[in-house]
Amino acid sequence: MSLIDLKDLSAAEMEKWAVKNGMEAYRGRQIRHWILTRFVESFDEMGNLPKTLRSLLKERARLCALRELKTIRSEDGTRKYLYQLQDGHSIETVLIPERDHLTLCVSSQVGCAMGCIFCATGKQGFIRNLKPGEIIEQVIRTKQSLEFPDRLKNIVLMGMGEPLANYDAVIKALRNIIDPDGMNFSHRKVTLSTCGLVPEIKKLANDVTVNLAVSLNGADNEIRSRLMPINRKYPLEALIEACRSFPLPNRRMITFEYILIKNENDRDRDAHNLCRLLSGLRAKINLIQLNVEPESPLSPPSMEQVLHFQKILTDRHFTAIIRKSKGRDILAACGQLRGTSGSEFS
Ligand code: SF4
Repeated sequence: MSLIDLKDLSAAEMEKWAVKNGMEAYRGRQIRHWILTRFVESFDEMGNLPKTLRSLLKERARLCALRELKTIRSEDGTRKYLYQLQDGHSIETVLIPERDHLTLCVSSQVGCAMGCIFCATGKQGFIRNLKPGEIIEQVIRTKQSLEFPDRLKNIVLMGMGEPLANYDAVIKALRNIIDPDGMNFSHRKVTLSTCGLVPEIKKLANDVTVNLAVSLNGADNEIRSRLMPINRKYPLEALIEACRSFPLPNRRMITFEYILIKNENDRDRDAHNLCRLLSGLRAKINLIQLNVEPESPLSPPSMEQVLHFQKILTDRHFTAIIRKSKGRDILAACGQLRGTSGSEFS
């Protein structure tokens, strides 16, 4: 009999599973608490369960789906974790130090089918979706490795994969992550980033409350379709209309990520088009200078050009922030994740 990963279950499913296995429902809640709040690594640590129950759990369930293969640290304090999954594939998770907290960039798929031309994960192609437990366990394992786990406050689904292409598993994982009886992260501190799957953006807010980020990178269809093939299926008109109808709680904004690529999307007219496109939206724009990839024909603009681009946006009263990519030296920055034990891990 294959063992069930209990982190794959929602709160209600956990209770049902307990009952189906001859326990009372409250035992399901206790087990979930040990896993999602106390991060136990063995059933024997579940001190309030009788020995017979712990034995039954050992026969039918497992606690760990990931094996930490390696961790590397950047000069700037960023850490990249390489985790191996049960089937031998591997994924990367990136811990980013901010001034007063830590942010964890979590993967949702092995590889990615979206093929954005500036992204190392996209070049790998799609291998498989992660299960909810595999998404959650990236947070658990990383927290366990920290000296001050409470400093980890922010979660971003911006690692390997397109989260909305693995919709059901991602929603389930997010619900466990923000559930006060689960991992208890504030929903204000959890962000899902998408390349623009319009039907899923439209239903997301009904299923879970988290922040939305959109990887935009082009303000007209010609440029965006060249950089991001998904734009041919869901062009900017449809994407922006979905963003305009996205229900935003008070004072929240949608974050639009814009990777600046020399001579592709960094000209003055691109900045003016961006202003027109986002006009009237509660939007924050994150400008990111392209991270150079070996063998890529794409190159970043100068910092002078990045500042000039930003000024066009701020002159039009947009909030536009230049995000300094962290972890470039260990290929942990935006668009650099591969999930292989490549040279940076050796
Ligand atoms: S940027 Fe995101 S959606 Fe695009 S290929 Fe990379 S992982 Fe996939």
